[in-house]
Amino acid sequence: MATTISNSTNFSFEQLLRPHLKSIEAYSSARSEFSGSANVFLDANENPYSEQFPYHRYPDPLQKALKAAISGLKGISADHLFLGNGSDEAIDLLMRAFCEPKTDNILILPPTYGMYKTSAEINGIEIKRVNLEAGSFELDAQKALDAVDKHTKMIFICTPNNPTGNNISDESIKHIARQFKGLVVVDEAYIDFSPNSSWIHFIKDYPNMVVLQTLSKAWGLAGIRVGMAFAHPSLIQILNTIKPPYNINSLSQEQALKVLAQPEKMRNTTEGVIKMRQKMAKELLDIPYVKQVFPSHANFLLVQVSEADKLCILLREKGVIIRNRSKEVHCEGCVRITIGTEYENNILMREMKALAEVL
Ligand SMILES: *Cc1c(COP(=O)(O)O)cnc(C)c1O
Repeated sequence: MATTISNSTNFSFEQLLRPHLKSIEAYSSARSEFSGSANVFLDANENPYSEQFPYHRYPDPLQKALKAAISGLKGISADHLFLGNGSDEAIDLLMRAFCEPKTDNILILPPTYGMYKTSAEINGIEIKRVNLEAGSFELDAQKALDAVDKHTKMIFICTPNNPTGNNISDESIKHIARQFKGLVVVDEAYIDFSPNSSWIHFIKDYPNMVVLQTLSKAWGLAGIRVGMAFAHPSLIQILNTIKPPYNINSLSQEQALKVLAQPEKMRNTTEGVIKMRQKMAKELLDIPYVKQVFPSHANFLLVQVSEADKLCILLREKGVIIRNRSKEVHCEGCVRITIGTEYENNILMREMKALAEVL
């Protein structure tokens, strides 16, 4: 049966929701209306003569098997979980659910992940900014709270933060979650590289909190586009109502299930990345034009050099691509370097050392 968003009760999701969505019905796909078992499926205009078995069928619109696996791994029930075509889809859907174009705004904390801004701009939503502190990239929670107005629907907190690599302090996040009347979106794309524990288990204490994670980074599945949002079931229901019906394709659901069945492999590779990150951080500091390597809890390093633009251009000529972040606020002279394979890292270090002659 079609469900409407107005079933949501707790907190004030109802009040936060864009008015025209309060009575909207989800598109009712053939696969979502029938959820029992049957032998004859003649409800979705698929091609039964196809040799593409089982891909001639539409995928499960609510990804039940995949959600069950994630729910087991994370220790939280599946009704607290939304899956998106990458967490970027969850970011976009959150804005489309709660922010009225030209009226509402979001608060971001630069320097941070670029999609919050891009998604807001695409959706015609105003952006407020409170910069993280220069040098430490810590968050002044009170400053953030002072910047919001009655149209601020969400605050995006990325921890560990991209591109700086540091964790945002627990106290700041709690302070904001307690005081802010809108949604607090905690983006944990890099959580598996961090010693900190996830905020997933706090969504019961803070009903206005949404935690984003992804299979793109530590899980090594950037190509299949699967992202997760953990939140109160009423909010999950809202996202499910407005998402494209078949947003995660069958191949992605299948591959995700396979990889999630072996979490120890993910943990082994992330441990390797962390060791490599520590080694590279030290080695980079030996290069004369490297001024600073910021502490990182992610799978990349933010590195301050004397001439970032020039370094990126010269490395590119050698076939080595790193990310220039020097135009970001408080990131003067900074580049972001992903921890790669030993082979890639060795080439990067060799080329960077060689450039000490000219930089
Ligand atoms: C990489 C990244 C994502 C993207 O996740 P997808 O699931 O690949 O869309 C989200 N947030 C941050 C902070 C990221 O760095």
